[in-house]
Amino acid sequence: MATSRRRQIYEGKAKILFEGPEPGTLIQYFKDDATAFNAQKRGTITGKGVLNNRISEYLMTKLNEIGVPTHFVRRLNMREQLIREVEIIPIEVVVRNIAAGSLSKRLGIEEGTPLPRSIVEYYYKNDKLGDPMVSEEHITAFGWATTQDIDDILQLSLRVNDFLSGLFLGIGIKLVDFKLEFGRLYTNDEMRIVLADEISPDNCRLWDARTNEKMDKDRFRQDLGKVEEAYQEVARRLGILPEGVAPADFKGPRTMQ
Ligand code: UDP
Repeated sequence: MATSRRRQIYEGKAKILFEGPEPGTLIQYFKDDATAFNAQKRGTITGKGVLNNRISEYLMTKLNEIGVPTHFVRRLNMREQLIREVEIIPIEVVVRNIAAGSLSKRLGIEEGTPLPRSIVEYYYKNDKLGDPMVSEEHITAFGWATTQDIDDILQLSLRVNDFLSGLFLGIGIKLVDFKLEFGRLYTNDEMRIVLADEISPDNCRLWDARTNEKMDKDRFRQDLGKVEEAYQEVARRLGILPEGVAPADFKGPRTMQ
């Protein structure tokens, strides 16, 4: 593998971070590995890394264009993207529009129930503890982020939600919920909170708007089959299937009614 020459900084469940070509940059490599239920279920989804690299590039670029700062710089090849090195805030931010997953289970709300308004939840990023849910109180008391950081994170998360909900609805997909991570970017004495990690069917719930068919990692979590096909369909609707997979005459996103 060409990547083995570079110094590895970190290996996670679905991605590897390598040293970047210049200070303050990293290379984010997307693997085909998939885990669920805090890594108790493991598997591979052939081609997932390639698709998530593309999907995340597309969504992060669109978000950059509307003024949401992100760590994304540019895609380098099929599985790698250049990103800015940030100090990751150890909080997973979940935004929900429709009841599903842990919310349905914990509160007994039937999956698929539209929520009266978007709900934002925070989880402490700690695999050993199984990413427990925490409140703003915990986050500030333990110094994981300041009140100002949380304000910025909440504002950005809601903007991302509004933008992505519209973008996905335009291609016939409901954005049920998703998880975001943020980091601190330091540039000459200034600190900015920026969106980090990835946005892909690995960390979003995406349902076909017409049939409610799942087009995300729940297909893997729940052994529904056709996982790769679902990720591919998301990429196809976004108009970004990687070379060699897209029909030659494919031009761009298709608007659905
Ligand atoms: N999620 C994630 N990583 C996690 C936990 C959740 O990306 O460690 C995403 C998940 O894909 C879903 C949303 O966050 O889109 C809400 O997940 P939920 O809390 O319902 O947890 P789950 O049902 O996945 O245990």
